[in-house]
Amino acid sequence: MAAIFKWNIMKKITIAIDGYSSCGKSTMAKDLAREIGYIYIDSGAMYRAVTLYCLDNNLFTEEGIDTESLKKAMPDIRISFLLDKDTQRPITCLNGQPVEDRIRSMEVSSRVSPVAALDFVREALVKQQQEMGKAKGIVMDGRDIGTVVFPDAELKIFVTASAEIRAQRRYDELKAKGQDASYEDILNNVKERDYIDQNRAVSPLRQAEDAILLDNSQLTIEEQKRWLAEQFQRVVHG
Ligand code: C5P
Repeated sequence: MAAIFKWNIMKKITIAIDGYSSCGKSTMAKDLAREIGYIYIDSGAMYRAVTLYCLDNNLFTEEGIDTESLKKAMPDIRISFLLDKDTQRPITCLNGQPVEDRIRSMEVSSRVSPVAALDFVREALVKQQQEMGKAKGIVMDGRDIGTVVFPDAELKIFVTASAEIRAQRRYDELKAKGQDASYEDILNNVKERDYIDQNRAVSPLRQAEDAILLDNSQLTIEEQKRWLAEQFQRVVHG
C-alpha cells in the first residue's frame, strides 16, 4: 500500500510495451501496472473482442471478412474492462458481456490478425486507446503502442523471443486453463500472426526507434519483472 502511494505522488508517465505474439508482454505489463498503481490496457484484447463480434455475427464468409457490415457495426461494438475482485486482473467485456475466456480461444487467435489489419478497425480502436491514456499513468501493450498510439510515451519496450518458446508458453497457458490445444497448431498460428502483423499496410509491427529491446527467451517471469521495474525507475527518477 505504502509503495503504491509513493508511486502515485510521482509524475505519471506512459508506458508502451510492444512485441511479437505470446511473448509475455501482457504478464509483465499487468504486473508492473498493479505494482505502481497504473491503469493496464491490453490492446490485443480489443482486437480479439472485435474478432469475436465478427464470429458471433457471421461476418466471416467464404470470401473473407464482410467488411461492409463490420464497418457499419463498429459504432455498436463497445469494449470495456472490468477488474476481477479476487485476482485484480482485467476482464474484457464486449457490449457489457464478459468475454475474457472466449477471446483467448484458438478460433479467435486464428482470425484476429486479418481483422486487426483493417484500417477502419484500427482507426476506431486507436482512438479509444488514446482516450484511455489521456491522463497518463497507463501501461498499454500491443503492436503499435510505441509507434502509433503513444509515440511520445516516456518508456517504450519492444519484446521478443523465439517462435518456438512463445508457442510453448501459449500451449502451457491453454493447457493450464483446461483448453484443447496442439503445439503444432499454436506454433503455426504464432508464425502466421507474426507475418501478418509485420507485413500489413496499416501500422505494421515494428520496434520504435526509441524503444528498448528485450529478448526474454532465456528469462524467467521474475527476472523479466525485475528488469522492467528497473527501466521504470530509471525513467521516473532520471
Ligand atoms: O496481443 P495479442 O496476441 O492478444 O493480440 C492479438 C492480435 O491483435 C495480434 O496478433 C495482432 O494481430 C493484433 N494487435 C494489433 N495491434 C495491437 C494489438 C494487437 O494489431 N496494438
